[in-house]
Amino acid sequence: PVYHQAKFICSAPRLKDAPPDQGMEIAFAGRSNAGKSSAINTLVQQTALARVSKTPGRTQLLNFFELDAKRKLVDLPGYGYAKVPEAVKRDWHAMMETYLHERKALSGIVLVMDVRHPLTEFDWQLVRWCEHAKLPLHILLTKADKLNFGAAKNTLLKVQRDLSEVSVVISLQLFSSLKKTGTKELHKLLDEWFLF
Ligand code: GDP
Repeated sequence: PVYHQAKFICSAPRLKDAPPDQGMEIAFAGRSNAGKSSAINTLVQQTALARVSKTPGRTQLLNFFELDAKRKLVDLPGYGYAKVPEAVKRDWHAMMETYLHERKALSGIVLVMDVRHPLTEFDWQLVRWCEHAKLPLHILLTKADKLNFGAAKNTLLKVQRDLSEVSVVISLQLFSSLKKTGTKELHKLLDEWFLF
């Protein structure tokens, strides 16, 4: 697919508002403020496709983007923002679980984590869901520009070790939306998933 041709299709407050469950879709997940919107914008080489939010956790929508007739990207609602009321958290939980388990078009999850704060409790939850739903997982350790290369590489190796017992295919890489590093690697991985 040609990533820079990505077009916004719709925002779905509920799963029933999502476009038909057809073709293939790859979804981006991550803790609020991890850098998920920036990573999507970097991937598609557009400055404002996914909104870079100044109010973390406010959007509880599934955002759908079309790459071509058969391929979509999905921006999942950010999680882990403390000020969200319990009821909203419960709804989010239910929606994510249903989406990850029941969406047939869903071919893989890209989990975006801030390289300085990897594997939060919420990230683990997502890893467990992927394991249960047998979904391959690609981890972007983003904001890599915030660390020197050695420190970033050490984090990568540590996260890899911590996830070694997980029973789904997991790949991981360093990424920086600021410096655009890791974009090629991400394109290559998504190409492989979309061909599958
Ligand atoms: P989201 O809530 O996960 O979608 O996170 P955003 O993409 O809105 O990013 C949160 C904040 O981190 C914003 O202030 C971004 O400018 C900043 N940010 C995102 N990616 C990077 C990156 O690769 N490097 C640096 N230095 N800052 C980043």
